[in-house]
Amino acid sequence: MKVPFVDLQHEYQGIKDEIDVAIAGVLNRSDYVLGKPVRDFEPAFADYCEAAHAVGVDSGYSALELILRAYGIGPGDEVITAANTFIATALAISNCGARPVLVDVDPATYNLDPTLLESAITPATRAIMPVHLYGQPADMDAILAIAQKHGLRVIEDACQAHGARYKGRRAGSLGDAAAFSFYPSKNLGAYGDGGMVVTNDTAVAEQVRILRNVGQSAKYQHQVKGFNHRLDSMQAAVLCVKLPYLDAGNAWRREAADRYNELLDDTAVTIPAAADWAEHVYHLYIIQVDNREQLQAHLTEAGIATGIHYPIPIHLQPAYADLGHKPGDFPVTEQLAQRILSLPMYPGITPEAIDYTARTINNFIAE
Ligand SMILES: *Cc1c(COP(=O)(O)O)cnc(C)c1O
Repeated sequence: MKVPFVDLQHEYQGIKDEIDVAIAGVLNRSDYVLGKPVRDFEPAFADYCEAAHAVGVDSGYSALELILRAYGIGPGDEVITAANTFIATALAISNCGARPVLVDVDPATYNLDPTLLESAITPATRAIMPVHLYGQPADMDAILAIAQKHGLRVIEDACQAHGARYKGRRAGSLGDAAAFSFYPSKNLGAYGDGGMVVTNDTAVAEQVRILRNVGQSAKYQHQVKGFNHRLDSMQAAVLCVKLPYLDAGNAWRREAADRYNELLDDTAVTIPAAADWAEHVYHLYIIQVDNREQLQAHLTEAGIATGIHYPIPIHLQPAYADLGHKPGDFPVTEQLAQRILSLPMYPGITPEAIDYTARTINNFIAE
């Protein structure tokens, strides 16, 4: 049996006809840039996130960067984020000219540990950027309380958390503004790159709208030095078709996670902890084991594809040598990097594939 890490074909085969119609619509209208699909998808995604505004951009990275720029964050400023995240979170901060200040994560949820936040705040701190990593919201109430006390913005990196809920509220509606990615393998994925800024802050939505489109408020009227970070009409057309299927995809992921949790031998495997306030959407299903490299090689041999998210923490990457960190600075993140393994997880994964994966892991550990 072969088990892929993700399968983008399962969903496509089910919606092929709708996708064809949507793409033909763009071709027939030729509204390739900021066309009807973008204007349709933005309010649909804002509604889905239970937020007031959504502004389409060309990637999750751009969404993060444009939020920071809209808040005027740049050189001399510090933005606090989780040490355990994808590199794009830190890149958005440093490419604005600000300094990413890393904080270690909670060993149970793998998300920014709010108890470590206050000691990372300095007079230069402008914002906190929690990441809802792997599909589980960070502990937002604790983070928001500290932000409020210190007058800081809270910018959610929701790039792995489309549809997740925190105490009943949607990821993306919890802070000042949020960034989503529509990279193809995300819970809501385009057929190329795409992203979205979601916010209840009207001024920030307006500013991002200007910044994404060469800094113009009206045609050829340039208020600020902007960028070209627009969401493509073709991708927006695909996303319009796919959005109504997002909840079903997330439900499939949750069922798959429940089945893994039930089957895996939890005396030797640490299964993901879902906090009681979280509706986890399992962008990734992460386990921890002692002998990760051997287990991964064994699974590869058995035809089961896995991943590691992420093998080298940001503070130990050559690109961030300028932050001046050393091994041991973020012990939880570093230990996770040694022990985590991402198992196959996608809408369409079969109970048989999960059973085979869990059985292969349990047998390897029992040997
Ligand atoms: C995917 C991702 C991003 C960046 O999204 P892109 O669309 O690939 O630019 C940022 N942060 C996190 C946590 C992500 O998983």
